[in-house]
Amino acid sequence: MTVDLSIVTERDMLIGSSFEGGTETAERVLAPKTGETILDLPEASPSQIDAAVAAADKAFATWSRTPPGVRAGLLLKLADAIEADAASFAALEALNCGKPYPAVLRDELPAVVDCFRFFAGAARVQTGSAAGEYLPGHTSMIRRDPIGVVASIAPWNYPLMMAAWKLAPALAAGNTVVIKPSEQTPLTTLKLAKLAASILPEGVLNVVVGRGESVGNALIHHPKVSMISLTGDIATGKKVLAAATKSIKRTHLELGGKAPVIVFDDADLDAVVEGVKIFGYYNAGQDCTAACRIYAGAKIYDKLVADLSSAVASLGYGHEDDEKNDIGPLISARQRDRVASFVARAAENQHVEVTTGGRPAPGSGFFYEPTVVAGALQSDEIVRREVFGPVVSVTRFDDVDDAVRWANDSDYGLASSVWTRDVSKAMAAAAELQYGCTWINCHFMLANEMPHGGLKQSGYGKDLSAYALEDYSVVRHVMVKYA
Ligand code: NAD
Repeated sequence: MTVDLSIVTERDMLIGSSFEGGTETAERVLAPKTGETILDLPEASPSQIDAAVAAADKAFATWSRTPPGVRAGLLLKLADAIEADAASFAALEALNCGKPYPAVLRDELPAVVDCFRFFAGAARVQTGSAAGEYLPGHTSMIRRDPIGVVASIAPWNYPLMMAAWKLAPALAAGNTVVIKPSEQTPLTTLKLAKLAASILPEGVLNVVVGRGESVGNALIHHPKVSMISLTGDIATGKKVLAAATKSIKRTHLELGGKAPVIVFDDADLDAVVEGVKIFGYYNAGQDCTAACRIYAGAKIYDKLVADLSSAVASLGYGHEDDEKNDIGPLISARQRDRVASFVARAAENQHVEVTTGGRPAPGSGFFYEPTVVAGALQSDEIVRREVFGPVVSVTRFDDVDDAVRWANDSDYGLASSVWTRDVSKAMAAAAELQYGCTWINCHFMLANEMPHGGLKQSGYGKDLSAYALEDYSVVRHVMVKYA
């Protein structure tokens, strides 16, 4: 297996209009397919972080008053520029994350481009309550205004797409942004910075790189940051909330997930198997909506486990020819070892059977075999904790009420799905599920027009859709006395 390290061209952060390297400790950026070092990237210094926030703060005065149509025009230009360079963005993302290149080009890049296009349009058609005389002699109207400087902190699983999800609504709404990509996957965000600098006014978008405990921590505590947007771990979300209490910053949190998949006895088994094979393992399961926790009716359970196990065993990975790869490696050796330890602990249970996979794959890359853990019980760690790897558990249920109760018996509340041929059963279950999204007879399908976000410890920020614009803006009341 080989990777082409020569495709990395952008290494500099964007601070105002200045492209510069960080001056602090270097973080090693690895190619997960081979474990090779792509580069060592020094992180931003405290003064560089201050300069980025100051540039965003200065730009806010003008950008926030720029008409939505003008902002939209620039975001559309950015979308066009990303689209024109989609192949090199996809190649860079594939290198840095280990994802199969064809999947990034086919699935992620069009979604990224469309995200900028959607928010460019959405910012021009915001809605609100009608103006009127709610007190005699006084006319009231609603404004929806930007918030200020947003510190956006992104994870490593979909670096460019998470950047788009954060930047597009924030910028469209008139905020300015300092974004910090994950220290493990900064490359496509740095490339995006290069493109954006030639399109957006100075200071509207700033990119700094570095670790969470240093650069991320400085951003979330920065007095000039008005809002923090994080996609990441629950533990990081708690740190963001603690930081926000000091100066009452707004927060937008998209945290983990552990999506339940309820399969009724009357479900179309082939569709379930095909759906879970794709959406339980997409991005090697490093997805907060991954279809990773199946509850199967007693009558369908045995056949589901058998068919799913053989389908999952056929998933392609580790081939030199990326066209043959359905999934890539985990992001790091640490993440692979974490996944392995979850499966090892699950396998210690007498009632559990690992029906396919269950081992790290040989080689220097961070691959883990696509795995099915059958016979898992609701109390098992593998059912309760987010594994974030190519591992799906299957739990048998006899009573529908148990399935919905177990699905809801979770700290997470991001995504769920229900599989049945009976629409009434599906709707009844969907109404009961405490999840930001419930798919019926499908899983993982996202549309830029529809919100994505969770309940409970999965957080409360909405990405995508007009609801994200609401999150990145503030409602204000203006009242005129005209007696
Ligand atoms: P992480 O929380 O470790 O890191 C996310 C980002 O936060 C990184 O940029 C990191 O540098 C930064 N960070 C870490 N500590 C920080 C601190 N003290 N202060 C400020 N910033 C800090 O998460 P990860 O491992 O990169 O990503 C995986 C997690 O993200 C999983 O739990 C996954 O479910 C979640 N996720 C959620 C969604 C969603 O939409 N809900 C989407 C993708 C990923």
